[in-house]
Amino acid sequence: MGLKSRKERTEQTTQPETPVGKGTQPLRADLRFEFINDYFLSDELRALKETAREFGERELNALVPDPRDTFIPQEKLLAALQNGASKEELEKLVNAAPRKVKRSRAQEFVGREGRFPMELWDKIASLGFFGIPFPEQYGGLGLGEMGNVAMFEELGKYDSGVAASIGLQLGLWEMPLFLDGTEDQRQQYLVPSIQGKMRGAFCLTEPGHGSDATNLETRAVEKNGYFHLTGTKQFITSATYADYFIVFGVTDPELQPGRGTSALIVPANAPGVTLGPHEDKMGIRASETASVRFDDVKVPVDSILGGNERRGKGLFSAMLAIDISRLTLAAGALGGSVAAIDKTLAFAAQREVAGGLLITKDNFQQDIGRCVAETYNMATTVYCIAKSVDDWIERGRPMQGYRSPFTVLAAVAKSLAPVKAREVITNALIYHGGYGFIEDYDIAKMYRDEIISELFEGTTFTCQKEIMKWVRDAGEYNLH
Ligand SMILES: Cc1cc2nc3c(=O)[nH]c(=O)nc-3n(C[C@H](O)[C@H](O)[C@H](O)COP(=O)(O)OP(=O)(O)OC[C@H]3O[C@@H](n4cnc5c(N)ncnc54)[C@H](O)[C@@H]3O)c2cc1C
Repeated sequence: MGLKSRKERTEQTTQPETPVGKGTQPLRADLRFEFINDYFLSDELRALKETAREFGERELNALVPDPRDTFIPQEKLLAALQNGASKEELEKLVNAAPRKVKRSRAQEFVGREGRFPMELWDKIASLGFFGIPFPEQYGGLGLGEMGNVAMFEELGKYDSGVAASIGLQLGLWEMPLFLDGTEDQRQQYLVPSIQGKMRGAFCLTEPGHGSDATNLETRAVEKNGYFHLTGTKQFITSATYADYFIVFGVTDPELQPGRGTSALIVPANAPGVTLGPHEDKMGIRASETASVRFDDVKVPVDSILGGNERRGKGLFSAMLAIDISRLTLAAGALGGSVAAIDKTLAFAAQREVAGGLLITKDNFQQDIGRCVAETYNMATTVYCIAKSVDDWIERGRPMQGYRSPFTVLAAVAKSLAPVKAREVITNALIYHGGYGFIEDYDIAKMYRDEIISELFEGTTFTCQKEIMKWVRDAGEYNLH
């Protein structure tokens, strides 16, 4: 038995849609990781994971018509054109035309000009995803870092672009507000954001300063009770639809490098704010990225995140939020690996090579066996670290200070999981043979999506440098 032809695949996909929650592929490699669930997850966390899985199946894995396959008989089209059909009439014709092939919603994002599926925002908020780690008093679910990694592992199985957009809202907009914001700021910005009524973005990177944020060029000059903010921020996720930005700018240049930077909360519609072009990315196309320019933007001095006592401490806020977010990125990479193995097993279970199914071949078992082991390793690393962070906080030792133990642990996870996920997904793609190179199979999209987790929020090298700082200064603080 060989693989199905495109025609056969077409026929298959026009059959009744897969029931919600059942998935579109019969084999699930994540069943092999049940041990992680048994060992690490409370009933509440399992329920959260299940909710995230259902969301993925229903909203991201659901089959949608593929506009590439719209078929309009030539004579119908010619007649419409000869009769001087309007744009609306032509659109109606196209929409009414039969569509043969269906693709998953997540696959459709590839062709969507890199836009977030905004129709999902309220749904995501109603499931509580924007509030997973935060206390209930702010409308959160109070599920800590374990909740975070459980959700991002699941979302990473379906679409890394949607996961990155949720990750940005939760990890780099809400988390700094929660950790370092004043109570008023939490009420004003965090609470509506968790409810999905407000959106934010995080503006740290500049065209000339990415990995090293200690010498930012953005300036916030104080005059008559206002900061005048000037500078450009590069690669800002969700900038295109954010209501507010946290902008990192130098308020006290005499304290540079690093220590004179403050985090300012800036309305996206403030005069002097301009968005750059929307970036055309190779992957995670469901997340939106643009540069943002600030030209003498006037913001009140009380816009400093955490109030005046956190003036000059903005980079500490940035790094702490990034640390937490690094662990969730590692969880997403874990999810991507699990899904890649899942898809490859399903593929190999029906692909015949040299007179037998691919799944029975020694090289396949050896390579995918190694991938499963690597993925299992990722899972234990990610969940162990998340658990130790939650325990750390429970024992009354907050994650404060730039070089908290969590900084090293997050760097360990972030330096390992994305690299391993790339290896796993590459292997998975290779075992798809030529089909791995074809967009009808999810693995090509997963391959492109995965690379970003080695780049943003600190490249692998940046994380390794962080680990080496700790090794060098070992003894200065303990991990537990
Ligand atoms: C899709 C996307 C979304 C993003 N979203 C955001 C966002 O929302 N907010 C935000 O602020 N930023 C965001 N970023 C920016 C991202 O965090 C940076 O791109 C990343 O930190 C790397 O910085 P850089 O691109 O300037 O690379 P560089 O710092 O110029 O690094 C280039 C290369 O040099 C290496 N390198 C760096 N330092 C050294 C050194 N000392 N010695 C030797 N080699 C070194 C790096 O590892 C890398 O391989 C996003 C980026 C992308 C692509």
